[in-house]
Amino acid sequence: MVATLYIDGAWRQASDGSAHDVHSPHDQRIVATVSQATQSDVQDAITAARESFDSGIFSSWSFNERSALVAKIADLLERDADLIARKESDDTGKRFIEAQYDVADVVSTFRHFAALGLKEHGRVVDVGLDHVSSRIVHEPLGVASLIGPWNYPLLQIAWKVAPALVAGCSFIVKPSELTPQSAIALMKIIEEAGTPKGVANLILGPGSVVGTPLINDPRIDLVSFTGGLTTGQTIMRAAATTIKKLALELGGKNPHIIFADADIEAAIDNAVTAAFLHSGQVCSAGTRLIVERSIHDQVVNEIVRRAGLITLGGPDDRLAETGPLISQAHLSNVSQYVEKGVAEGAQLLVGGKRSDLPEHAQGWYYLPTVLDNCTSKMFCVQEESFGPVMTVEVFDTEAQAIAIGNDTPFGLSGGVWSKDAEKAARVASALRHGTIWVNDFGPYRPAAEWGGYKQSGIGRELGEHGLGEYLEIKHIWTNNAPSRSGWFRAHE
Ligand code: NDP
Repeated sequence: MVATLYIDGAWRQASDGSAHDVHSPHDQRIVATVSQATQSDVQDAITAARESFDSGIFSSWSFNERSALVAKIADLLERDADLIARKESDDTGKRFIEAQYDVADVVSTFRHFAALGLKEHGRVVDVGLDHVSSRIVHEPLGVASLIGPWNYPLLQIAWKVAPALVAGCSFIVKPSELTPQSAIALMKIIEEAGTPKGVANLILGPGSVVGTPLINDPRIDLVSFTGGLTTGQTIMRAAATTIKKLALELGGKNPHIIFADADIEAAIDNAVTAAFLHSGQVCSAGTRLIVERSIHDQVVNEIVRRAGLITLGGPDDRLAETGPLISQAHLSNVSQYVEKGVAEGAQLLVGGKRSDLPEHAQGWYYLPTVLDNCTSKMFCVQEESFGPVMTVEVFDTEAQAIAIGNDTPFGLSGGVWSKDAEKAARVASALRHGTIWVNDFGPYRPAAEWGGYKQSGIGRELGEHGLGEYLEIKHIWTNNAPSRSGWFRAHE
């Protein structure tokens, strides 16, 4: 019996006993078998979340009490870090050490929100009247559906669960069906930490089936979603019916601009990392290289050389530098994306195919790929591959670099390299993306907001705003010397 759904404070199997196998992207072996929720299980989870919220069993706790719970969860996550990292690398195929880094980031996320909960919430407003006290108070928003992707499964869920708990919301977590194990582990810890029954619920199964009620049901107040643009559009349409609050973290096609006056060695090294880390399965991957024409050959030749040397391998391969793609379907998408780029006129300089090493035969390994001679109008430049594919464009002037960097429907992140601090600051300010790195690419901290401009999403995770997504704001006006309003003559 597989009982991996967590509903109303109890672990249970699917109501019809359904379960499904999770396969390693490295070698296709079965790494877990988990329950697959039915529609009635989803209804039970929504009911449990709604009833627990409305009862005040948790939403009435003070911020301090909820912060203490979240800090305890951080401690328990730290205790189980390696066990969880193992599950994460089994599901995603990523190297165990990368999964360890991810779990450390998860712990930092919980600690950040625990600390944020201890800060002063709300404020007094001076309305200019001695007999009136006016206060802004922050209240838990209600019941949230928290839907996450497969690339950083636990981290992306943590960015939602930690603030939801500090805010006092009840919620239903839905991880990707491809990567459910770390969410199960998190839910066990949430239970162990003493979270009241019904507050935290876990539903497993395919998004198109079990996700639909989580975005349609009128009892849900907020959908916080990280995933692809198409699913984000579906969620936004569904949310319109009941005017749900939305927090959407969607894709990116992130410009990485290198000026001729940059520290070229550092820029090249970071460009390789930005594009090929986790085989490009990173929403903020720097897969769109925009390089000044005069250094194009120097930069691109060296990137191509280094890309060709990247060692691919499974979770426990000590020589591996990055891992497989998540699934056969995703590998097929990335292959087609590259073929389309070449058909449009891009020049394939390296990669462009599946690894043919015998040790990769059972896994979804795609070689780091560079497409040169690209222009902004090409499909491969406008769309996200979510794989290890870098496109290269050139510019001659600062204005051109900015225009190219902004010529995208997305707006998640970008980078700019130059030793001219004023120029770099001008470009950073002109780029319409949610995070800009100057002479760097990739780092983030839980204390800093994360999110997208344009079609990369709505709202922000992390930082202080990341908690605000889970709070309602109420204004309470108290008249301490009540009198008649005197507006209508009839009352005189
Ligand atoms: P998807 O949009 O396919 O899936 C994301 C989640 O939504 C999964 O849990 C999925 O379930 C679920 N889902 C799918 N369809 C529905 C539906 N109709 N209703 C409710 N839930 C649904 O994205 P991927 O998992 O493929 O993730 C890759 C995408 O996520 C990329 O575009 C990437 O850029 C983006 N992303 C953005 C980040 C950011 O911070 N902006 C961070 C990480 C990823 P299931 O998988 O079980 O079908």
